[in-house]
Amino acid sequence: MISQDQFKSFKSKLAAKSVTLIAVSKTRSIKEILSLYQLGQRDFGENYVQELLPKYKILPKDIHWHFIGYLQTNKVKYLAPFIYLIQSVDSLKLLQEINKEAQKYGRIIDCLLEIKLGQEITKTGMKLEKAEQLLTSSELDLLKNIQIVGLMGIASNTQDKAVIQKEFNLLKNQFDAFKKKHSSFTVVSMGMTHDYEIAIKHGSTMVRLGTLLFRSVTEVS
Ligand SMILES: *Cc1c(COP(=O)(O)O)cnc(C)c1O
Repeated sequence: MISQDQFKSFKSKLAAKSVTLIAVSKTRSIKEILSLYQLGQRDFGENYVQELLPKYKILPKDIHWHFIGYLQTNKVKYLAPFIYLIQSVDSLKLLQEINKEAQKYGRIIDCLLEIKLGQEITKTGMKLEKAEQLLTSSELDLLKNIQIVGLMGIASNTQDKAVIQKEFNLLKNQFDAFKKKHSSFTVVSMGMTHDYEIAIKHGSTMVRLGTLLFRSVTEVS
């Protein structure tokens, strides 16, 4: 675990740049999550519905839970009562399902569109053209119980900084373009442990960090 002093100074550096910190707690125990909670962390990110649900039940209710993994439509109903931000929306069909379930609870659920960056064959994320189509589709106007508040992206898993920079740049430029037409756009979620510094340099407003926060000192290579 990151020490209290390290955490405090890291968090204030991010705050100075208006970057929100999401602590990615997948595979981490209740005890580990509580240690960060006790340092003041309230935003946590999880990748799997079946892992998030028991954590949600046990942990304090003022935690903001972010869903950042691949989301199947048949699992949306479990998240709808409490999820704070779904960062991994990759289709209109999924948005429609989120809208339907949000309606049952009288909620408006905030969502990010996950954009596929780079050439890797990944399971999640939509192409930019598809996101553009979705944002201009008339069907979106019918969805009163969701709000798209920005974009999320995962850069290619490479040591080549130029590639990562290019991908983050693309995402930020697209975010700026969408923002002109969609006043609800406020979040560009990009940056993980190995690339968050590049992401912030290129305009990230939200970083998703797991390893950096939770790894024990002995794990640091
Ligand atoms: C696991 C994960 C992270 C955090 O990765 P670290 O390298 O541990 O910081 C961020 N975003 C997503 C979508 C993830 O799945």
